[in-house]
Amino acid sequence: MAGESAAVEPTAASENSSAVPLVVARGDGIGPEIMDAVLEILKAAGANLDIHEIEIGKSVYESGQTAGLYPEAWDLIRKIGVLLKAPITTPQGKGYKSLNVTLRKTLGLYANVRPCNTYHPFIPTLHPGMDLAIIRENEEDTYGGIEHRQTAEVTQCLKLITRPGSERIVRYAFEYARMHDRKRVTCFVKDNIMKITDGLFHDTFREVAKEYPDIEADSRIIDIGTARVAANPHEFDVIVLPNLYGDIVSDVAAELAGSVGIAGSANIGLKTAMFEAIHGSAPDIAGKGIANPSALLHGAIMMLDYVKLPEVASLVHNAWLKTIEDGILTGDMAGDRTPVGTREFTDAVIKRLGEMPETLPAAVHKPYHPPEFDIGTTKSAEKQLVGVDVFLDWDESGRDPATLGEILNRVSPDALKLKMITNRGTKVFPDGHPETFCTDHWRCRFTNPEGAAIKHADVLELLKRMNDDGLDFIKTEHLYTFDGERGYSLGQGE
Ligand code: NAD
Repeated sequence: MAGESAAVEPTAASENSSAVPLVVARGDGIGPEIMDAVLEILKAAGANLDIHEIEIGKSVYESGQTAGLYPEAWDLIRKIGVLLKAPITTPQGKGYKSLNVTLRKTLGLYANVRPCNTYHPFIPTLHPGMDLAIIRENEEDTYGGIEHRQTAEVTQCLKLITRPGSERIVRYAFEYARMHDRKRVTCFVKDNIMKITDGLFHDTFREVAKEYPDIEADSRIIDIGTARVAANPHEFDVIVLPNLYGDIVSDVAAELAGSVGIAGSANIGLKTAMFEAIHGSAPDIAGKGIANPSALLHGAIMMLDYVKLPEVASLVHNAWLKTIEDGILTGDMAGDRTPVGTREFTDAVIKRLGEMPETLPAAVHKPYHPPEFDIGTTKSAEKQLVGVDVFLDWDESGRDPATLGEILNRVSPDALKLKMITNRGTKVFPDGHPETFCTDHWRCRFTNPEGAAIKHADVLELLKRMNDDGLDFIKTEHLYTFDGERGYSLGQGE
């Protein structure tokens, strides 16, 4: 087969019952070019695949499907359980949902796995020998997209971090470390600021880490952690982190490794998995025949492990490494060397199937075994309602906090008295500072003056009185304690 480059035809399942079923989506921009290249390489390597193609992306969005794929495609993905997906172009504008986020969340693909390696001296990099894996939580955090404009000036996005979501991703990270003979898992969070949400992720990490005494565990604050990844990625082995931080850090790491055109990623769920390149549809180079198929190929190599074809994964991976060693590189990897196009690169990889790298470590793939672990049930706690934060849209009296304080003291019932007012989280009443800038969005905290528990009826009474007074309440958050422990943050300066 070496040297041949046949067009890839889907295999009819009935013709070949041992073929591994796979859903393939060609995507937009450079997607079809790099998918053709990847499927050609897989076919030449002898991967016995039963390919079912689905349409996704721009054309589907434009046909009126706001999720970017047709309803029938869901059934096929669910039935087959493995999707190799090329990048798509996300249409600009409101009303379209991100296909990637929809796929990840709808199919429960909770773990996003991105290995980041360098190939020094063959691909220019600042960090020869970099070898780390980023395990990103894929379903929650701000990616619920629960956003509101609440006042003329203020918008908000809800960040949801859950105990089961955190436990599942943290366990996956430790299991991944064991599966790949990695020695250390580092957790990145910002719990010095977000003590409750990131604090939960961090606490879960510390608890789960105790069950993996063979793996070293440590933590970094996300900002300095990211800086250290950029300065010295060798400090890290496996990094586990919440969704938004993971999105950013994994792109930083991929770029440091040489090019976004190299790294692939796996999205793993309990029953389904999706494999892809980390880059987008690169419309600037679409149709020019210069796109690098390597990132999608690396996604496909992870897919081969997943469907238990590790010999094919090793064959393809080693041929790719040898191609790189032989200096055959697309423009994004070439630095000051003469680049080749997608066609020549694909042919070069196919020609080297069966060869091994001479300098870079050879790839040895193992079949993927889904990690088996249970998510512990969250301990129930005695939950007590102790107060309420009422958010107001208020733009009167020169936005003077003392005036608002007087109004609220007047309207509040005996069971719920005003404790403080904050603006953008900073306390402005009582005893605020005149320098604090105030928007039209006020968080007003009410608690029982004797520190007693309150009832929902007390909250309703407060809201009724506010309504009668013409105050525009835009949202309430109840203040609870759990086994006596505060389940809400204090105001800055409280
Ligand atoms: P991009 O990743 O498409 O491109 C960034 C830069 O990297 C461009 O200069 C591009 O030419 C280059 N590049 C990317 N992949 C390359 C490859 N394989 N070979 C050579 N060069 C490559 O990012 P973008 O331009 O910000 O986004 C383009 C579109 O892709 C947008 O519509 C975006 O929403 C979408 N996108 C999709 C996905 C996905 O489907 N998974 C991910 C990210 C972005």
